[in-house]
Amino acid sequence: MPAQSLLVVVSGPSGSGKGTLCNMLREALPDLSYSISLTTRPPRGDEQNGVEYFFVTEEEFKKRIEAGEFLEWAEVYGYYYGTLLFTVEKLLSEGRNVLLELDTQGARMVKEIFPEAVLIFIRPPSMEELKARITKRGTDDQAAINKRLSCAPDELEAARSYDYLVDNNLKEQAFADLLNIIEREKSARRRGQGGMDI
Ligand code: 5GP
Repeated sequence: MPAQSLLVVVSGPSGSGKGTLCNMLREALPDLSYSISLTTRPPRGDEQNGVEYFFVTEEEFKKRIEAGEFLEWAEVYGYYYGTLLFTVEKLLSEGRNVLLELDTQGARMVKEIFPEAVLIFIRPPSMEELKARITKRGTDDQAAINKRLSCAPDELEAARSYDYLVDNNLKEQAFADLLNIIEREKSARRRGQGGMDI
């Protein structure tokens, strides 16, 4: 396992803009590989299998839990989401930097397994703004929106244990902050501080 590999975990409440920011990172940083999660949530909007997620049945997801295939998994907003151990180990062993977009339970689990993982939490400006953004997205029904919003206070509480908080008031600024964090962590690893140890 190369000591210089970077494992970045991005979390944030639903509607915080973390998905958009992660897509911007993926475009800007070709050396950062995104691990596509499995989920039992149905595809939303124009999401495609194998792009945003691998969409699977609950039966298949549970089989994979039993088989020990997940690095971490969690039930979030009423559905299962999980990261395949094989995918992350393969990318890290190839010396790739890896980006995971996880809820706060998954992020905590990853940090326990890989203490050198860099946890970044995307913070929305306010609850009002969060509500406005998630509603404007137009991909969730009212019940799903309410469920997602009701989790935000606990998610913000969990953010206290993250390595970095990034305020997403202005997308461009938040993106610049993310790039700075990743550059800083990369150079720390080049200097031999931090780095993955598995
Ligand atoms: P969404 O349904 O909005 O795509 O995602 C819902 C939540 O699940 C988000 O907080 C997202 O970061 C999280 N999530 C996505 N993939 C995974 C995963 O593999 N594991 C965990 N623990 N959370 C995930």
